Amino acid sequence: MHPTYEENANRWLNDAGLRPTRQRVTLAALLVGDGQHRHVTAESLFEAAKTDGASVSLATVYNTLRAFCDAGVLQEITVDGSKSYFDTNVHDHPHFYWEGDSRVTDAPSDELVIQSLPEPPEGMEIASVDVVIRLRKKG
Ligand SMILES: [Zn+2]
Repeated sequence: MHPTYEENANRWLNDAGLRPTRQRVTLAALLVGDGQHRHVTAESLFEAAKTDGASVSLATVYNTLRAFCDAGVLQEITVDGSKSYFDTNVHDHPHFYWEGDSRVTDAPSDELVIQSLPEPPEGMEIASVDVVIRLRKKG
């Protein structure tokens, strides 16, 4: 593992208040090691870990992603109900979902205007607003 990647992973886990187990450090390094935001699925992260020579199971990857979400350092984006994507950028921002290749990418936030939202029911407040713009090839 690249030393800087490991440093970034450890710092990220520390900020999240998570104990830096070896598997967490391995997966965190793949997620945020290079300092870039990314969108992954449990499967794509599992494949990346395998390619990297790490021995983790898909179940461990899934549980670890859940732990990262619970700690607030990862955001889950549900597109189909069946498929979850995980985003290292936890700030509110819109997404494109590319139906053809089942991919999630960021959509330009500055071009999104939400003028009003429905009043939440009595005793409730809006926790977040998810915007997923589904894309398909024209024609
Ligand atoms: Zn995103």
